[in-house]
Amino acid sequence: MEQVVSASCLVSLRCTSCGATYPADEIHTTCPACGKVLFAEYDLERAAQTLTREALRSRPWTLWRYHELMPVRDPASRLTLGEGGTPLLRGERLGQALGLSRLWLKDESQNPTGSFKARGLAAAVSRAKELGAKAVAIPSAGNAAAAMSAYAARAGLPAYVFMPADTPPAMPAECRAYGAHVFLVRGLINDCGRVVRAGAERFGWMDVSTLKEPYRAEGKKTMGLELAEQLGWRLPDAIVYPTGGGTGIVGMWKAFDELERLGLIGRERPRMIVVQAEGCAPIVRAFQAGVRHADPWRDAHTVAPGIRVPVAIGDYLILDAVRASGGTALTVSDEEMLEGVRLLARLEGLFVSPEAGATVAAARRLRERGELGPDDETVLFLTGSGLKHLELVEGDYPVLDPDDPGVLDRLAAVAGRKG
Ligand SMILES: *Cc1c(COP(=O)(O)O)cnc(C)c1O
Repeated sequence: MEQVVSASCLVSLRCTSCGATYPADEIHTTCPACGKVLFAEYDLERAAQTLTREALRSRPWTLWRYHELMPVRDPASRLTLGEGGTPLLRGERLGQALGLSRLWLKDESQNPTGSFKARGLAAAVSRAKELGAKAVAIPSAGNAAAAMSAYAARAGLPAYVFMPADTPPAMPAECRAYGAHVFLVRGLINDCGRVVRAGAERFGWMDVSTLKEPYRAEGKKTMGLELAEQLGWRLPDAIVYPTGGGTGIVGMWKAFDELERLGLIGRERPRMIVVQAEGCAPIVRAFQAGVRHADPWRDAHTVAPGIRVPVAIGDYLILDAVRASGGTALTVSDEEMLEGVRLLARLEGLFVSPEAGATVAAARRLRERGELGPDDETVLFLTGSGLKHLELVEGDYPVLDPDDPGVLDRLAAVAGRKG
């Protein structure tokens, strides 16, 4: 019998809107025919021969364990910093506070560069290099730029990053440390996108904007593959996701479809729940209006940069997934997000970004409204680390003089009266 070698089963790119298909082994951004989002398509029959529950048991816990469903052909082209394989933690204490008995926390802050963006950019930069790109460029609220810069460093590719001028200072600093060319842009992420598009045309950079090339979504879909595997090949009742450009939701939805066609899960799907900020909620507004495309949000503002995205090219893909899953979309205030951050830190020992805090606020709201039942198995995606947002944490600490004879009296106020 012929030995089947496991390898990427990528076959083509297909437009999610007009259905046109393109060869996978040339560089593509959006659909040349209609400008919408291209998806990678795989030979799932072939993938099913080697991507089995048994085979997975002996593979390392990075996202490359699913290499049949990843776009990178040559194993030597895989750029890895240990992305993926993040813990799915029980949220017992937070669950008690929210009234959810089966709460899970997917801690994406443990990815390289501190956010789930590492998954998408590991895939996109690996593939860009494999296809011969000479430089990569990105408009970003911060985390995507950091991830791209890190993988570009690993690949030896020049990186050009463009961020809104008011991005938290840790983000440009991290990119510069990786050797990227960092530019701050007056405006929002879509304004940064305009500069990247023009630069890509003039200087030949590969533009790796969200859903404007097909492979970031492939990296992010591994959150869905991993979740199914970590739960023993089943899916939860609900997934709560802080949504900006939408690749997280869109990628996971694609993953579930591929897993079903591989025979690894059944037809059940979680309710996909989109959380956005009160100050920037184009997808929530479109969901409520019952439409498939979102109008641009004006004067977008929120402390959560990753979800300050006024226009999403994949709006129809996000909204389709939410609706098909019986999910919903809701907003939370900045204050509620920060309260979510505090709760995760104090009850669970997880110091996360404000976007991640938004999932806590959303779960609380949905529980109060009865849209999440007390026993609904719910997964909060903690997309990023709080360490990049120290500006949001109060920095007023008592300063002690160790020679001060009254030092222990000052401590007694918080330590209690022992000894
Ligand atoms: C980018 C980002 C998001 C938004 O994710 P999308 O998949 O683009 O919708 C959420 N949280 C953090 C921390 C991010 O960096």
